[in-house]
Amino acid sequence: MAGASSSTIIGLLGGGQLGRMLCEAANPLGMEIAVLDTKDCPAKQVHQSQHHVTGSFKDPMAIRELAAHSDYLTVEIEHVDTEVLEDVAKNGVEIGLPDGTTKMHRPPIHPSYETLRLIQDKYLQKEHFSKSGLPVAKQVSIQDGDDSIASLKTVLSTFGFPFMLKARKGSYDGRGNYKVASEQDFEPALEALKGTSLYAEKWVLFKMELAVMVVRTEDDEGNLRRCIAYPAVETVHEDSICTKVYMPPRGVSQATCEKARELATAVISTLSGRGVYAVEMFVLADGSLMVNEVAPRPHNSGHYTIEAVPQMSQYQAQLHAVLDLDMPEKLVPKVKSALMLNILGGASPSSHHKLVRLARSTFGTDTACYLHLYGKESKPGRKIGHITITGDGSIDELQQKSQPFFQLVDEIRQ
Ligand code: ATP
Ligand code: MG
Ligand code: MG
Repeated sequence: MAGASSSTIIGLLGGGQLGRMLCEAANPLGMEIAVLDTKDCPAKQVHQSQHHVTGSFKDPMAIRELAAHSDYLTVEIEHVDTEVLEDVAKNGVEIGLPDGTTKMHRPPIHPSYETLRLIQDKYLQKEHFSKSGLPVAKQVSIQDGDDSIASLKTVLSTFGFPFMLKARKGSYDGRGNYKVASEQDFEPALEALKGTSLYAEKWVLFKMELAVMVVRTEDDEGNLRRCIAYPAVETVHEDSICTKVYMPPRGVSQATCEKARELATAVISTLSGRGVYAVEMFVLADGSLMVNEVAPRPHNSGHYTIEAVPQMSQYQAQLHAVLDLDMPEKLVPKVKSALMLNILGGASPSSHHKLVRLARSTFGTDTACYLHLYGKESKPGRKIGHITITGDGSIDELQQKSQPFFQLVDEIRQ
């Protein structure tokens, strides 16, 4: 297998909290990550490199500059320019040599630009899974330029109320979603999502949501080696934003968790490129599973692996997969249960301080509580940090023990 020499540089598109935690995983491994994002982004705050690029991960010139300095390219966000990634993958980028000549440099890109492009468009992503025989919600596309109200009436006649109107591209934390429950919602939904291509999904009456992180390894020719799944976790979304993660899921059979891991593995087997991927799923009333969407990168639902799977966190797994380094046979938590609570910015910039103080008050006690702050300015609803709490008992016991945290998290959201 190829190895990472100490001079190997991984170019990273995006330097938010996922990039920051990727850098935190790279630091003790002595790996260098060159980050393309704003000057003071969360990732650059924790990792030095003379190859960092200041700019946008949507800017072709900035991506070329990053590619020129990198031995590999990867992402912490899927909303990147894939046209330029395709060009770099096919033709490379010109770099100057000490003797004054130039050559084309072609760093491997993981995941592939094809996967990133497919996942960027949630409608096409689900069409792809559906064609692969994987269960997804029914959906209809809405043509740009069509009479929008008439289109929503057609959706209504197909799905009834409620249905979910979604932006095809660019959405995160539910910001591109609008639940349409009556004809009164038509205008505000179209107003909220104006300027983007839309599609509609049938409303899914799910019992709960699960997520599975999958590590995909490939040889240099793109042949799949293995998909290794982390345990299934329960994700709780409030107002479409993930607020809490439970490992293992509450009240879900071992068999369903295994089915979720198998489904996630099947989903990621249909894509291309090395790295970690998140598969978000719905559990329906009859216990069957449906794929919601895939994220081609480390994910909020995998933060817990930093402390709960010290064998290899999702961040270290991303580095190992991209560089094609050895991976464990199985990814097994060292604790019986883990909880992850997102710290979202509250009404005032100091709303979350009480929660941070509570987490700190556990340090030195027998509560295994781990605080992560991302170095981001607090804004209402913005993910600015998270807390992981691990336990040796059941997830219900851990939840019980963690009640003060839940109370404060809910207080901040008021
Ligand atoms: P992320 O931050 O995970 O990328 P996103 O903006 O891409 O989020 P989705 O994953 O599409 O948004 O949806 C966010 C949440 O909204 C889901 O986790 C689920 O709770 C709810 N949701 C999405 N689609 C549906 C649906 N068809 N029916 C019911 N609820 C849905
Ligand atoms: Mg998404
Ligand atoms: Mg989602």
